[in-house]
Amino acid sequence: MLKYNMSRHNNFVNGYVMQTIWAEQALTSQGWQSDVCISVDDRGVIISVEPGSPPQGAKTGILLPSPINLHSHSFQRAMAGLSEHRGPMGSDNFWTWRNLMYRFVGQLNPDDMAAISAFVQMEMLEAGFAGICEFHYVHHQPDGTPYNNIAEMSDAIIEAADQSGIGLTLLPVLYQFGGCDERPLGDGQRRFGNTPEQFGQLFDTARSTIARIGNHSNIGVAPHSLRAVSPEALEFATKLAPDKPIHMHLAEQVGEVEEVRSARGRRPVEWLYENHEVNERWCLIHLTQMNEQETAAVAKSGAVAGLCPLTESSLGDGTFNGRDFIGQEGFFGIGSDSNIQISLAEELRTLEYSQRLHHRQRAIHRAFAV
Ligand SMILES: [Zn+2]
Repeated sequence: MLKYNMSRHNNFVNGYVMQTIWAEQALTSQGWQSDVCISVDDRGVIISVEPGSPPQGAKTGILLPSPINLHSHSFQRAMAGLSEHRGPMGSDNFWTWRNLMYRFVGQLNPDDMAAISAFVQMEMLEAGFAGICEFHYVHHQPDGTPYNNIAEMSDAIIEAADQSGIGLTLLPVLYQFGGCDERPLGDGQRRFGNTPEQFGQLFDTARSTIARIGNHSNIGVAPHSLRAVSPEALEFATKLAPDKPIHMHLAEQVGEVEEVRSARGRRPVEWLYENHEVNERWCLIHLTQMNEQETAAVAKSGAVAGLCPLTESSLGDGTFNGRDFIGQEGFFGIGSDSNIQISLAEELRTLEYSQRLHHRQRAIHRAFAV
């Protein structure tokens, strides 16, 4: 990110105001290149990338393409800090945090959702993210009744992206049950629930709205987790839009691993890989509870590990097997999840430091040093 005013580096070409950026080194689709001149028009579109150019325009040392924030629940930005005290139970953990989140979510209407989303999207743009994958599960009114437009809340997020200009991949979440035993949703979860049929309707409506705004936007599907969808509904979600990405929370908490194992006889990653052809289309969020075999299976499959190091630290989830996964050439991306802090650099630092603490070593992700 260039932090200084670039207005003095503007030219006019074909009616557009062109900005020129020159970098000693830039990461391009051809890999690292030197003396790179990049021209950008006033719509923010890159017009040309020319290595081996003389210094000109706004000069910088190193330039990277802006990454995508691959996992966000935008509304949680507005509760950042509210859960940083110990609850009445005497000890605090993921599940007590989740209760507070449910109380908070009960207060939100579609206007709140649009305002909070636009605000956090702006912060993400400022932090260097070009796009956001919004894992969106607050669909209905507080008592669980759908709005007249079943995709009202999705539309609020799409409207926010249209306003902020961020690239949006909306991931409407399919959420059916309160646990692996298919118990009904609890009070705090009613806003999330859909049958597969309702979800198909919601997905189609949101897809039409997304198509209208364009703006580098896309849609995917998000079966919430193995706890919240039946095996049949997961199958349904994967077939709903076969060319679109699938995102799912997986293997985040010890309690979740135990619940899935007792209900389905397998650990979450094991169960998923035994029952689905998991490939590049899949983005598995967290994976902080994986054994060696699971780490190898995910790395080999081409699925993306969706890591959210700040949130995983904040919630006490556990540590991702980063050294082994990346050593086996697994793919990963970074998400801001609960949005307690919007900082790509801090996410990456936390990932690296988690590995240092775990392995008692230094400079573990050295492949990323430049
Ligand atoms: Zn999440």
